[in-house]
Amino acid sequence: MEEPVLFERSVSGRRGVSPAEHDVPVTDVSALIPERFLRSQGEEAETTYDPMLPEVSELEVVRHYTRLSQWNFGVDTGFYPLGSCTMKYNPKINEDIARLDGFTTIHPYLDESLTQGALKLMYELEGYLAEITGMEAITLQPSAGAHGELCGLLMISKCLKARGEHRTKVLIPDTAHGTNPASSHLAGFKVVQIESGADGCITLDSIKEAMDTDVAALMLTNPNTLGLFEHDIVEIAEIVHERGGFVFCDGANMNALMGLVRLGELGVDVVQLNLHKTFSTPHGGGGPGSGPVGVGAELAPYLPTPRIKKESGIKREGESYSFEYDRPDSIGRLKAFYGNFAIMVRAYGYIRRCGPVGLRRVSETAILNANYIKQRLKSTFDLPYDDKPCMHEAVFSDTGLKETGVNTMDVAKRLIDYGIHPPTVYFPMVVGGAIMVEPTETESKAELDDFIAAMEAIAEEAKEKPELLRNAPFTTKVSRVDETRAARVPKLKWMPKDHMTAFD
Ligand SMILES: *Cc1c(COP(=O)(O)O)cnc(C)c1O
Repeated sequence: MEEPVLFERSVSGRRGVSPAEHDVPVTDVSALIPERFLRSQGEEAETTYDPMLPEVSELEVVRHYTRLSQWNFGVDTGFYPLGSCTMKYNPKINEDIARLDGFTTIHPYLDESLTQGALKLMYELEGYLAEITGMEAITLQPSAGAHGELCGLLMISKCLKARGEHRTKVLIPDTAHGTNPASSHLAGFKVVQIESGADGCITLDSIKEAMDTDVAALMLTNPNTLGLFEHDIVEIAEIVHERGGFVFCDGANMNALMGLVRLGELGVDVVQLNLHKTFSTPHGGGGPGSGPVGVGAELAPYLPTPRIKKESGIKREGESYSFEYDRPDSIGRLKAFYGNFAIMVRAYGYIRRCGPVGLRRVSETAILNANYIKQRLKSTFDLPYDDKPCMHEAVFSDTGLKETGVNTMDVAKRLIDYGIHPPTVYFPMVVGGAIMVEPTETESKAELDDFIAAMEAIAEEAKEKPELLRNAPFTTKVSRVDETRAARVPKLKWMPKDHMTAFD
């Protein structure tokens, strides 16, 4: 568990590889690059030290990184019920497909005649996502959910301008993900928080009261972050529309809706999706994402440029695909080229292989699994709201543990000792000590039973040996970390002491 950084393993002169002797004449690089640009050279050199590379053997490198990878937790190593994140197992075949040479060796600057397959894939993926969400048109440009939210709000803003209206506010329920108010702020709107009702959903009355001619949009997550379907969404949308606003649905929870509900038919004007949650891109660790946005007819002209266009027999025989840039009302470009392509390939592969029936089963199974956990654990951990069926995630609270002095954080940390990644905790914030469990469709009943048994065992431990829980976990490299300090005083780089001065 005590793994030094690679630099500390460095031994001067040690080599990882020994290439064969070269058989071409030696050339002095300074003949090619002006001397002042070279490291460790010349009076005027900007950089006067040698590159600080660790000198290690191949085996040391392999073992170092393999050991580091083993400290990590991932969906490939265990149950990862992180609510709101949809951490599901994704078929490895989609990784293989995304790595095919035909996809990885093309470049967006190639002539369109050479990238017809990629354009067709993106065009068809837009069509599938439009079908799944019930929206008129989709853009694949945004690179994450939050980026998609910004995209949607910028379109709303531009559309309002075209209507000659100036609306400054966005309504956001108190259960919303933090990106909703952040994106609204970035798009220049003021955020008005809406309190959820006694059953965890937004009430018609609260919308009637808040919805005036200064409101540009309501941003609603459905199902919301309590895992509950916003049952009044149709009537809510009607009120918002009557008073000239737009309904933005945060579609990060699409894993609960595929094949079951088409948001466009419920009155949603714009929705963002997270391909890295619902559609087969593994996430976590800050890897690339994709946050396509779907819109209804009124917002379609404002979609980012370029769009992908399909034509028959114009430039070539048969169908051809091209980028369309001439869209005068567009909000412009949001991302280099057309977004994160490899993620689209995975989503395309996933949707094609599941098909309509398969996608519906994904959502049904995700919902079934969450309800199974909710039913089995509701006598051990409190449910913050009435015991109604949930969608794809179940939220518990730690109120029942109060007497033991153990809280949600202790339960989460102890789960690690049981080989399980903690669920999302302390979110949504309307629930005190929230424990938000999203099992996803990919877990077996045996796995769910193991999780339930672990949670029950921890609840027993809370009564019998609370101090044990307060010090958990015991099986990891580090136990409790000071999370506040880690965020406030991050230590982002390390370098050998003798090189420090070079950077001072
Ligand atoms: C994950 C999530 C987001 C943000 O998506 P990113 O892709 O992380 O930017 C927004 N809303 C909800 C409800 C989410 O779960």
